[in-house]
Amino acid sequence: MALENIKEQDHIVKYLKSILRKDRIPPMLLLSGRKGTGRFLAATMFAKALNCANSIGDCCDKCKSCVAIEHNVHPNVVVIGRDVDVVHIKDIRNMINASFVPVNNRYRANIIDNSDKSTPEAFNSMLKYLEEPPERTVNILIAEMAELLPETIRSRAVELKFRPISAAFIKETVKKTGLSDEDAEIVSKMANGSMEKIKLFSSKDFLKKRKIFIEYLLKFFLDEVIVSKLLDEWNNFSSNNSSMNNAKEFFDILSTLLQDIFFVSVLHDTEHITNVDALGFIADKFAFVDRSKLHKMYDVVLEKKQALLTNAIQQYILLDGLFKIKEVIK
Ligand SMILES: [Zn+2]
Repeated sequence: MALENIKEQDHIVKYLKSILRKDRIPPMLLLSGRKGTGRFLAATMFAKALNCANSIGDCCDKCKSCVAIEHNVHPNVVVIGRDVDVVHIKDIRNMINASFVPVNNRYRANIIDNSDKSTPEAFNSMLKYLEEPPERTVNILIAEMAELLPETIRSRAVELKFRPISAAFIKETVKKTGLSDEDAEIVSKMANGSMEKIKLFSSKDFLKKRKIFIEYLLKFFLDEVIVSKLLDEWNNFSSNNSSMNNAKEFFDILSTLLQDIFFVSVLHDTEHITNVDALGFIADKFAFVDRSKLHKMYDVVLEKKQALLTNAIQQYILLDGLFKIKEVIK
C-alpha cells in the first residue's frame, strides 16, 4: 500500500507527496482527527516513503526498507503509544534513546500514537526533545483531540487534519463484502465517519444482535421494558465484543434512536434516520410522541455522556441515566 491508496484524505496525501518530492520535511507533523480515518496508516506510509529504496514521493511497499517498516524492525522508525490508554514518560525516553542518526543517510521517523493521552511528565520530556530536534528526524504525533496537547508542542507542528470518512464511501466499502443495501446503510451510519469498527459492525452476528437490542430499547421508550431487563439485553449484545462493552456505546445507540424518533414523528423525515430497519416500528408506535419528553431524554443522554468523560464508574452512570430516562417516560 502506498500514500496514493489512502482514501478520502486527498488534501493530506497531496501535501505529504509534495514535501517528499521537494525533500523539505518539517521536524514535527501532527496528524489530528478521529480514529479510523487513516492517521496511523498515513504516518506509516510516510515513514516508508522517507526511507524507500525505489521511489521518490511515495513508497513502493516491496523493498527491504518498506518491508522492515511494515514489520516494525527498521532502525529509522520508532512507534510508541500504539493501542494504549496512556503514554508514559518511559515511552518517550525509550523513543529518545532509540533516536540514533538515521541509517542510509535517510530520515528517522518517530511515530507517537495517542499523543493526546500523554502524562504531563511525558509531555515535558517530549517538549525538551522537540525543542532541539535532531537532524533528519521527523516526529509524527497522532491525536484524536489535538486540543489536549500543550500549546508549546502543538504550535511547533504542521497540523494535518483528517476528515471524517463519508457515509457513502463506508457504504460502498461494506457492500463489497456482501452486505445488503439496508445493512450497508446501517453500518455506514453507525460508523459515524470512522473505519475503526466497520469490520465488527458488518458481521452478520453483530447486525442480528443489534436489531434485537434496538427493539428492546424502543420497547423501553414505550415503558414496556424495565431498566434491569434492558441492561441484561445490553450485556447479551455487547459481551462478545470488547469494543462495545462500555457505556458510551450504549448512549451512542440510544441517542441515534431518539434522533430517529424525532425525525420520523416530529419532522416526518424518513430520509435521514440511522436505524433504517426500525423505521416501521417507529412509524407505527411513536406516531404521537411527546416532543418535550424526547428533548428531556436527549438532555439526560448528553449529560451522562459528559459525565462519562470524567468519571470512572461507567456502569453506574449508565444505570443512573436509564433510571432518569425512565422517570421522563412515566
Ligand atoms: Zn520501498
